[in-house]
Amino acid sequence: MSFTDDKKTETIAAISSGMTKSGIGIIRVSGPESRAVVEKIFRSKSGKEIKLTKPSHIYYGYIGSVSRETYDEVLVLNMPAPHSFTGEDVVEIDCHGGILVMRRALEAVIEAGARNAEPGEFTKRAFLNGRIDLSQAEAIIDLINAENDNAIRNSFEQLRGSLSSEIVKLRSDILERSAYIEAALDDPEHYSLDGYAEVIREAAYGWKDELTGLIDSFDRGRIIGNGIKTAIIGKPNAGKSSLMNAILGKERAIVTMIPGTTRDTISENISFGNINLRLTDTAGIRESDDVIEQMGVDKALENAEDADLILYVIDGTAEFDEEERKIAEMVLSKKAHTICVINKTDAADEKNIEDIIAGLMQVNVNADTVVISAKEGIGINEMYKKIEAAFDMGEISENEGVIVSSVRHLELLKNTRSSIEALIVSAESGMPEDFYTVDMMDAYHALGQIIGEETEEDLINEIFSKFCMGK
Ligand code: GDP
Repeated sequence: MSFTDDKKTETIAAISSGMTKSGIGIIRVSGPESRAVVEKIFRSKSGKEIKLTKPSHIYYGYIGSVSRETYDEVLVLNMPAPHSFTGEDVVEIDCHGGILVMRRALEAVIEAGARNAEPGEFTKRAFLNGRIDLSQAEAIIDLINAENDNAIRNSFEQLRGSLSSEIVKLRSDILERSAYIEAALDDPEHYSLDGYAEVIREAAYGWKDELTGLIDSFDRGRIIGNGIKTAIIGKPNAGKSSLMNAILGKERAIVTMIPGTTRDTISENISFGNINLRLTDTAGIRESDDVIEQMGVDKALENAEDADLILYVIDGTAEFDEEERKIAEMVLSKKAHTICVINKTDAADEKNIEDIIAGLMQVNVNADTVVISAKEGIGINEMYKKIEAAFDMGEISENEGVIVSSVRHLELLKNTRSSIEALIVSAESGMPEDFYTVDMMDAYHALGQIIGEETEEDLINEIFSKFCMGK
């Protein structure tokens, strides 16, 4: 990777704690001048200069502007290179967490010679200085954005290097074999390729299995990180909005608005325990009572095409008629896991509910059904238990291995696997050995991009721009 980034040597500063009133606010300063910058604005109680000479030391004093107006009583942490988050000289100022106080402190640091850091610039420097690799930097974003315990666990494992170490090992295996072939082609007297096709074939099957394991973990990783993509479908008046409200009203529910990345949609993530539902376009569902009528059932179902979970709401007080049966047929043929939610049990008679369940079983004997009252909050916990069971949302276990949760990593792993599959074909069809190295090096390069060894500068910048300010 060639980084001709002169900016790298500048000293940068930002407020690293949140911009809300809090007990403490943290101004982080990183770069070669960070000590000199802070020394300009830092004084003892009696007004004497304080030199930040001791490494890993916390100093107490006052800060003010360069022109000496004092603002706050602070602690200053001195973390010289390379033992800091960025790998550079880092000084952190712990001031009081008032918004204006933090802002003034940052202004003083800027006045003293630092420049404002860009979002993610501290982490980018940690990456450029080799403190962490790219997949670990991405894990930091995921950790900050984590909305449930499993998401925290998974990103923390990645931050600790679980994915990196697998990738590094695979890469070095591939490189070693490829180097051997190159050496043998250059120097056939000392290195023999006799029977090497078989050796490569065996190794390649091993690599392929390992890659497939990582690729297959993605479904779980995506659900852990982004939530179970959920669609609520049903006839008008079945109680879709009411169910939605019952879910949203659940105690400890966390609701966040997330602008869609691919389309201009809004989705809401709702987390409780280990369940994290991602309800897409819920605004539309909530505002319109007759989504099915407006869009046609087909259209509503089309929207559920890439859902992981369909909550198919059926009015328990209505007859399981021909129309409902057709909807059931369509819904139950989708690849998403469907839970048939028979609603309004408080007002429905038992016989009708039994008929509905029988009707659903006729459509699909394995139909997963639950009887609820969205209005009275009956059966909602049972529905959650069904979701939990269907998506194996228990805690991530220690021996679960690496779980891939990033689309970027998934694509690169798939590219790597394609190269390894091509390698297998070459090895099995008796191609000359120099053919092998082409595919092997393709695989090696794709893997390198996961950990940021061979990643374009534009992509690096895009990844770090997703960070928040001060990180
Ligand atoms: P949607 O068109 O599918 O979104 O249905 P709504 O959630 O708007 O509900 C339609 C009607 O059914 C409203 O009058 C609700 O008050 C009523 N309703 C929804 N859930 C229940 C329930 O569990 N019990 C009863 N008795 N009525 C319900």
